Amino acid sequence: KAKGAGRKRFHIYEAAYKYDHVENFIHELALSHAIEKEELYVQYQLIYHPAKQVVIGAEALLRWNCSARGIVQPNNFIPVAEETGLIVDIGYWVIRQACKDWHLLQKEYGDEFKLSVNISRVQLNEEDFVDQIMQIVREEEVAPPSIELEITESTTVHSMQDVQQTLHRLRAHGFTIALDDFGTGYSSLSMLTLLPIDKLKIDRSFVADGNAPLIAAMLAMASALQLQVIAEGIETYEQYMMLKEMGCWGVQGYYINRPMNRDLLPKQTEIGRAAGITTRE
Ligand code: C2E
Ligand code: MG
Ligand code: MG
Ligand code: MG
Repeated sequence: KAKGAGRKRFHIYEAAYKYDHVENFIHELALSHAIEKEELYVQYQLIYHPAKQVVIGAEALLRWNCSARGIVQPNNFIPVAEETGLIVDIGYWVIRQACKDWHLLQKEYGDEFKLSVNISRVQLNEEDFVDQIMQIVREEEVAPPSIELEITESTTVHSMQDVQQTLHRLRAHGFTIALDDFGTGYSSLSMLTLLPIDKLKIDRSFVADGNAPLIAAMLAMASALQLQVIAEGIETYEQYMMLKEMGCWGVQGYYINRPMNRDLLPKQTEIGRAAGITTRE
């Protein structure tokens, strides 16, 4: 029996059994063809530097235009992709796409412009992840410092030492690492000093709650650890001003711009004005 094929089939059965949802099983089959059928695409959400009032980067957010279901949001298919291991190939596809788009976006937003890509725990656990990502950036002629890898706290709960080592190797190549959804995971604060990271992304729930004391505490802690901070989920002018006045390094959210296709992103000169950021001050 061919080992590879058997293993793949087992994964799919195993996952279907686990979910006990015939529907999920069908979605997995559809997702396994999504790359070849060119149903995946990436949208970008700009990251804005409130002090300098310039765009400093963007986050790549994956979407799936499924022939049966229409446009599917990542929360509705990434977990399935992780369970089945499909996220590995999908993840490499996203990184390559982000590299291709970086060349075009950098022309508009400047040399300092970084593209952030979300990386799942399953991807990080791949033994050759570092080699594969290095090959992609070489082929696409993007320097690693132009790419930021976003990991979540839950990424780090299992096999802490392996994760540490992989992140160290990625940083040695020049990639920067951001800890995503900070504050929502179940990791201890000590992880912040154990993990080689460059940035914290404060989860949008803290911004939505208007929890200023807690945000201030996170900013102080990040500053002491020499980490930059991006606040997620900025939806209003008031939230924007609060984070700006607190000295937050970067902000991201619907108030700045919604995630959108690369071609539709606002120009550097338009973004502050469009969001009412520069005119209302
Ligand atoms: P995330 O990395 O924390 O991404 C931010 C999410 O917040 C995005 O949801 C974005 O559309 C949404 N968002 C941004 N600004 C606002 C705002 O002002 N208000 C509100 N309510 N939401 C806002 P999205 O695109 O649905 O992605 C959800 C999650 O899926 C991401 O959370 C990330 O964990 C995961 N994901 C997305 N793309 C990829 C990918 O290529 N690979 C992997 N492994 N995960 C991905
Ligand atoms: Mg993210
Ligand atoms: Mg997040
Ligand atoms: Mg998330």
